[in-house]
Amino acid sequence: MNDCLFCKIVNKEIPAKVAYEDEEILGFYDISPQAPVHIVFIPKKHIESLDQLKTSDTDLIGKLHFNIAETARNLKINQAGYRVVNNTGENGGQTVFHIHFHLLADRKLKWPPG
Ligand code: AMP
Ligand code: ZN
Repeated sequence: MNDCLFCKIVNKEIPAKVAYEDEEILGFYDISPQAPVHIVFIPKKHIESLDQLKTSDTDLIGKLHFNIAETARNLKINQAGYRVVNNTGENGGQTVFHIHFHLLADRKLKWPPG
């Protein structure tokens, strides 16, 4: 857990540009943006992936999604629309094993994703 990149961002050991923060959730701008707006939302608590989610974490992840929607409204990207993405495991394209949800916006996104 000490080697986790996103835990280091939570602990301010690695800098990030914060878009949203409360006691439990952090949203920060992705270092390699895939859209004009690209924010990564994480629970501050270390959970490896969606596959490792416990019943006791479901309120936390529900709240995280509300925070994404609230941030989208604050950034005024909600009317044009946006996408929320979670990559789980190797085939899902997960590279950082601390559960996270990407908020992508401000361009027309293709479907299906690659
Ligand atoms: P995933 O591929 O779904 O695991 O997403 C991990 C995301 O973390 C990628 O979009 C990376 O660009 C992003 N990322 C990696 N290191 C940093 C960092 N230091 N600050 C912000 N975002 C990062
Ligand atoms: Zn972590």
